Amino acid sequence: MPNRILILGCPGAGKGTQARQIAERFGIPHISTGDMFRSHMKKGTVLGKQIEDYMHTGQLIPDAVTCRMMVERLAEPDCANGYILDGFPRSVPQAIELDNMVVQRTEALGVVIALQVTDKEIVDRLTARRTCPKCGRIYNLKYEQPKIEGICDSEGCDAVKLVQRDDDTEATIRKRLAVYHRVTEPLLAYYAERGLRQDVMGENRTPDEIAAQIEKLLITDGKIV
Ligand code: AMP
Repeated sequence: MPNRILILGCPGAGKGTQARQIAERFGIPHISTGDMFRSHMKKGTVLGKQIEDYMHTGQLIPDAVTCRMMVERLAEPDCANGYILDGFPRSVPQAIELDNMVVQRTEALGVVIALQVTDKEIVDRLTARRTCPKCGRIYNLKYEQPKIEGICDSEGCDAVKLVQRDDDTEATIRKRLAVYHRVTEPLLAYYAERGLRQDVMGENRTPDEIAAQIEKLLITDGKIV
């Protein structure tokens, strides 16, 4: 059965960490619009140049630009048997566009996981977040330190120094949270009305405990929903 999963939550809720695990566990692609945009900026593509200011100031990239990129990505062959979307949709117009893309391909979304974390926890977490510029792995100086300070633990990343994302400073985080509440939060009602939303508490427990609950939600009768 096809596996089309969305993971929603404010910036820093743990979407990337959880989505990566789910993708690996179920053998489906992990599609993160944030990673795709960062990759465009790093490569200096035309799109990368267009989006720089939005990214640095914590604003959302316009829906038309984001949706065009996603139409292309979801048409790639690795998406035929499902995917986990991390950071898309992030607005009601994007959700409507995603519904259109899915319906056109006579497919259906399976489940929408809504990770719940308070704003206070997010500010504490994101200012301590570091990422590996090579493999994308996420660390937290408070909760998930690498074995050697400042260096990625992943295989093939020997001596790769962890970095702080430009948009993980407190002022930008506060701005991103405000954008989240205004533009993205309405999606919680959107997917609840469609009977797809599953709430998962994203704080006061370890990432592994959260992952275990998500896995239970995704598997029914030994199959992924
Ligand atoms: P993320 O890595 O998901 O936190 O995304 C980082 C930044 O990429 C966001 O602050 C936005 O500027 C941009 N971005 C990611 N996904 C979207 C989206 N679905 N719509 C608009 N902008 C996005």
